[in-house]
Amino acid sequence: MKEGINNPKLIFEERKAIILFLWLFNLLYYSFEIFYFYIRPKLNKKVNPFDTNEVGLGVWLYILIFCLLPIAIYFFKKGNPYVVKYIYIIGYIGIDIIDNLMKYLGTTDSFGSGNIVEVLFILFCPIFVNNKYFWVVSLGMIGKELLLGLILQDLNVLIPTVIYVILSVIAYILVIRFNSYIQTLTTVYEELRQKEKLAVIGQMAAAIGHEIRNPLSSLKGFTQLQQERYPNTNDYYPIMIQEIDRINSIVNDLMYIGKPRVIKFEKASIEEIIAYTLSITQQQAERQGVIVETIMAGPLPPLDCDDKQLKQVFINLIKNAIEAMPEGGRIEIRVKVLEKRTLSVSIQDEGCGIADENILNLGEPFFTTKTDGTGLGLMVTDQIIKDHRGAMKIKSIIDKGTRVIVTLPILQIDK
Ligand code: ADP
Ligand code: MG
Repeated sequence: MKEGINNPKLIFEERKAIILFLWLFNLLYYSFEIFYFYIRPKLNKKVNPFDTNEVGLGVWLYILIFCLLPIAIYFFKKGNPYVVKYIYIIGYIGIDIIDNLMKYLGTTDSFGSGNIVEVLFILFCPIFVNNKYFWVVSLGMIGKELLLGLILQDLNVLIPTVIYVILSVIAYILVIRFNSYIQTLTTVYEELRQKEKLAVIGQMAAAIGHEIRNPLSSLKGFTQLQQERYPNTNDYYPIMIQEIDRINSIVNDLMYIGKPRVIKFEKASIEEIIAYTLSITQQQAERQGVIVETIMAGPLPPLDCDDKQLKQVFINLIKNAIEAMPEGGRIEIRVKVLEKRTLSVSIQDEGCGIADENILNLGEPFFTTKTDGTGLGLMVTDQIIKDHRGAMKIKSIIDKGTRVIVTLPILQIDK
């Protein structure tokens, strides 16, 4: 909550709570005093000298308590409204201790403490929704009673102490409930904002991507033409074409964010999809000394899917596996049918693994640990798998390797 404390809306809430508190405090405090010391003795003929307010601070008690008000108003208007509640609680406890010591120290009279506002202090804590303030009030009030009991050697303080402990427990429950509500609201708000941000990025990305694709395809066409026309002049043509393809695939990934997708489910062979994927990634694997092994369990049924999109999924996953092993290694792809008509594809590498603190960020757009990564691959992959009503699980051990398991339903019901 600390960061938000200067938020004008929160300051406004604090001010509302303070105004309510100041009204209630002053009304209750003075009505109680008037009733206790002026009205009650008139109804009750027998008056104990300690039931009058002539001992102790006497009229100074009221003047001092009243002085808290201008100080509070000053901070309320000029300085920091958050300190007003502390001024009251600390001021009140201080003045009350002095008053009681002056009343009872050196006398044998039994201690009769308290004003109804002490109950108000504790029960009113939750409206400030602040844990620290709660502890100051409840420990302050209980501490005050115990301190007076100790100095005055009087067991009468036990009654208010027990009452304050019980009230503190109730107030504490309210404080933590309020805090937890506010925290939940904040998270919901953050999630919404994140979603809105994504939607805006998605629209922008789709619009820009669309504009980039056309010039890009003519650029590629002319580069190929140039290469055919002057085959012996330049070694850079393949690199140029490769880089254009790279831009193209990034643009395609970008266009995937936030865009409603239409999926055309058709029967396709998973063997073919994997074979195609491997043919695309083969070059990169060979360059890095990565060996890919595929293990298919028995004859596999045709899969209801959008094969172009599933190819994209496995290209992304295998590329990630290759990129995780710059020094070479082995990738094992296992495909099998699970019961309940589900196909499972597991891709296991021996690469660098994923640190625990990064696991939660996987699949978030633009999250990448690579210098030339886009952080879009897993997001697109995850989306496509979800569109196929499948699931993706990632298990990783740092420096040992990563296993990604994709499960897909073999039949889509509402085709
Ligand atoms: P990119 O590959 O562009 O970084 P991805 O969305 O494909 O974006 O992956 C996001 C991040 O997840 C990567 O930067 C990497 O840190 C981590 N990651 C994904 N797959 C693997 C893997 N097989 N091994 C280790 N880290 C991985
Ligand atoms: Mg990737």
